[in-house]
Amino acid sequence: MNYQNSLAFALEQDALDPLKNFRSRFLIPQHHGVDAVYLCGNSLGLQPASAGKYLADQLSNWQNLAVEGWFQGDDPWLNYHKQLLPSIASIVGAQESEVTVMNSLTVNLHLLMVSFYKPNHKRFKIIMEGGAFPSDQYAMESQTKFHGFDPKEAIVEIFPREGELTLRTEDIIQTINEHADELALVMFAGINYYTGQLFDMEAIAAAAHKAGAYAGFDLAHAAGNVPLKLHDWGADFACWCSYKYMNSGPGGISGIFVHEKHFNNPELDRFAGWWGYREDKRFLMAPGFDAAKGAGGWQVSTSPVLLLALFKASMAIFDDTGGMGILREKSVALTGYMEFLIKELNKRLGEDVFKIITPADPQKRGCQLSVVCKRDAKAIFQYLADNGVIGDWREPDVIRLSPVPLYNSFQDVYQAVQQMAAAIQQ
Ligand SMILES: *Cc1c(COP(=O)(O)O)cnc(C)c1O
Repeated sequence: MNYQNSLAFALEQDALDPLKNFRSRFLIPQHHGVDAVYLCGNSLGLQPASAGKYLADQLSNWQNLAVEGWFQGDDPWLNYHKQLLPSIASIVGAQESEVTVMNSLTVNLHLLMVSFYKPNHKRFKIIMEGGAFPSDQYAMESQTKFHGFDPKEAIVEIFPREGELTLRTEDIIQTINEHADELALVMFAGINYYTGQLFDMEAIAAAAHKAGAYAGFDLAHAAGNVPLKLHDWGADFACWCSYKYMNSGPGGISGIFVHEKHFNNPELDRFAGWWGYREDKRFLMAPGFDAAKGAGGWQVSTSPVLLLALFKASMAIFDDTGGMGILREKSVALTGYMEFLIKELNKRLGEDVFKIITPADPQKRGCQLSVVCKRDAKAIFQYLADNGVIGDWREPDVIRLSPVPLYNSFQDVYQAVQQMAAAIQQ
């Protein structure tokens, strides 16, 4: 696209945007009576305008049907989560039987590790990206300790080469090959939360399998952001939260993927609970766990229906977009526009005051740009916040800005970079 550094260009792109009507389906935070420029969907997606109604419907069922709500009404709670599965499967590229919704993300990561990290003295290592989200680091560390290993030996982190900011796929594959004999699991993010780098999950999964290890992915920053093909890539398992790009609200429900190739594998342990019991016999309450077939067999506890209701409000919006392909097209254009404007600003300033550390190749990133601020980083971030541009801050000097195709506009992006320019003037 031939971008232009003008408000007129931004407004023109907004007028041409096939997704432009989706913005009105979200509640945009207000700043001095006008829409804030919200570029923080990587941390907490905006509230669907319909969320209140979805929630109120279930509160009303609870009021009117009470316990019968599990089996009666338009939307019996017993099967409520199943209505979400087609949308989720389409977002992560899975079959419906390969996904379910349950718990929260780090909890699910631990539960999946119970099945997919069963180290022995020959194979005990986990390879992950250096600088992974802290919760994932703590989860891996505590899992290796739980199995009696020293995390320093069992966890291999891959860092960028000297002088580089992000990982090369060839280096990831080489590290996997180097540790192949001792490798139990390759556990990677889909997109790194700090740099915004999108990893080649297909290549990583293939290398892990060739080494005789499992491949798992944390898709917190990828699900609902970039198209995924978990089934075709052969990922063994994955999990994600839905409160970032999937707009399910603070602490919203998480999701998991288990590849169907594992459905009949009796070797896989799991921590069981009654919600994962085969449905036709769950209420016989018999002794002896008999798992439901599919990802649903990993469920542990009763569905949190109120969280599911909020998630459903957002999934209904995703369904109406026509899919991740259409969202991705706008996303690439929108993030490309922000990159263009930031580069223009650096040119005008005569130095790279705002250094983008996210890969420049759209195939290697989602919507987020991570920007290192070379001058008065904290003050610039504060100026942006005071002027209604909401990004987020990561120590020591990184501002993450994520234009989300569902509700952000080219005008938002234009205004954000205008404010970055104004911040430098101050
Ligand atoms: C956001 C995020 C989390 C948060 O996990 P919770 O259990 O939902 O608190 C974990 N891992 C990654 C990679 C994340 O981006």
